[in-house]
Amino acid sequence: MTDMRIQANYSLKNHNTFHIDVKAHYLVEIEKQSDITTLRSDLKLAALPWMIIGGGSNLLFTHDLEKVVVSCRFKKIKVVKEDEDNIWLSVGAGLDWHTFVEYTVDHGYWGLENLALIPGTVGAAPVQNIGAYGAEAEDTITRVQTLNLFNGERREFRHSDCQFGYRQSIFKTEYENSLLVHRVTFRLRKAHAGHPNLYYEPLKEALNDRDKTELTSRDVFDAIVEIRQKRLPDPRIYGNAGSFFKNPIVSEEYFQKLVEKHGDIPYHKMLDNQYKIPAAWLIEQAGWKGKKCLNKTVGVSEKHALFLVNYGGANGEDIVMLSQRIREDIDHMFGIHLEREVIVLK
Ligand SMILES: Cc1cc2nc3c(=O)[nH]c(=O)nc-3n(C[C@H](O)[C@H](O)[C@H](O)COP(=O)(O)OP(=O)(O)OC[C@H]3O[C@@H](n4cnc5c(N)ncnc54)[C@H](O)[C@@H]3O)c2cc1C
Repeated sequence: MTDMRIQANYSLKNHNTFHIDVKAHYLVEIEKQSDITTLRSDLKLAALPWMIIGGGSNLLFTHDLEKVVVSCRFKKIKVVKEDEDNIWLSVGAGLDWHTFVEYTVDHGYWGLENLALIPGTVGAAPVQNIGAYGAEAEDTITRVQTLNLFNGERREFRHSDCQFGYRQSIFKTEYENSLLVHRVTFRLRKAHAGHPNLYYEPLKEALNDRDKTELTSRDVFDAIVEIRQKRLPDPRIYGNAGSFFKNPIVSEEYFQKLVEKHGDIPYHKMLDNQYKIPAAWLIEQAGWKGKKCLNKTVGVSEKHALFLVNYGGANGEDIVMLSQRIREDIDHMFGIHLEREVIVLK
């Protein structure tokens, strides 16, 4: 007898931040390791492809899914070990990310405060290697525990096994939809042992009138929440999945050519002498910021040019079409091919 939930022909409208109304053939919620083998022994479930969903905040659905959509309900936070300066927390993948970040600052820990208010779950944080305001999930992740979705087997990855990159990891490539992240271990600095990461200029400015030696992780968290609320469209009102495209990276030689043609271009110089250009700037230059189309059902946010928005009633294909038009314009103007950050389910 199991208490896991299996729902058939289930609408995912409240499981994706674009609010696209598609149906999953089955939605299953996994609470313990043995749920996987139990589900696999059900022939109608085993016959379908499986995919993993967290909060659906980086996904774009374009049609109903003839799949078993798996979500993870592990939510507990456990202290694994601690020493004078550090604490290691193992966290269930199903916990809401922002709730966990708030828990860490409430305890005075440093390390995750710059990643406040990112929608989604703890389990997706290593998969996506989420990042914002000068920090990435991989800076604090030490271990990732997974369950194999074919046989339920456990496997633990050390940081060095995860192949973390820019919004990348081994869980998104080699093990996509085959390993379910069920716990993630973070090493955080205790209140006296940490310090603020003010690498991101607007954050530094927001905290300018404060004595840096007295700042707490809660202060930085509050500043980040305020900045994000001001700068980004709230997905509860304006359906979106965050940055639609990745920031493109170009060679030094190509960057110089672009500067000759377009004048000043914002950039971030990487360690390998390549240049990262904000995709939002390119999209704004192409005149897309704030534009709406298809009877004003879809458009580019007026707050942030990297956010494509479902203003109500759009379907996934409408948003894909808008993204393609933007891509073509950027290709044409700058010779840069924008790569999607959002995962489109075709
Ligand atoms: C308003 C807004 C702002 C955002 N800002 C940022 C930002 O600043 N920085 C940033 O990096 N991202 C940002 N995002 C994107 C998004 O929040 C992250 O990608 C987040 O990690 C997605 O989490 P999720 O649980 O919703 O994952 P989902 O969107 O459900 O899934 C994303 C991918 O992870 C896989 N996955 C999810 N859970 C698991 C699991 N337990 N095990 C294995 N695979 C899993 C899925 O199969 C899928 O491939 C933003 C999104 C929105 C809507």
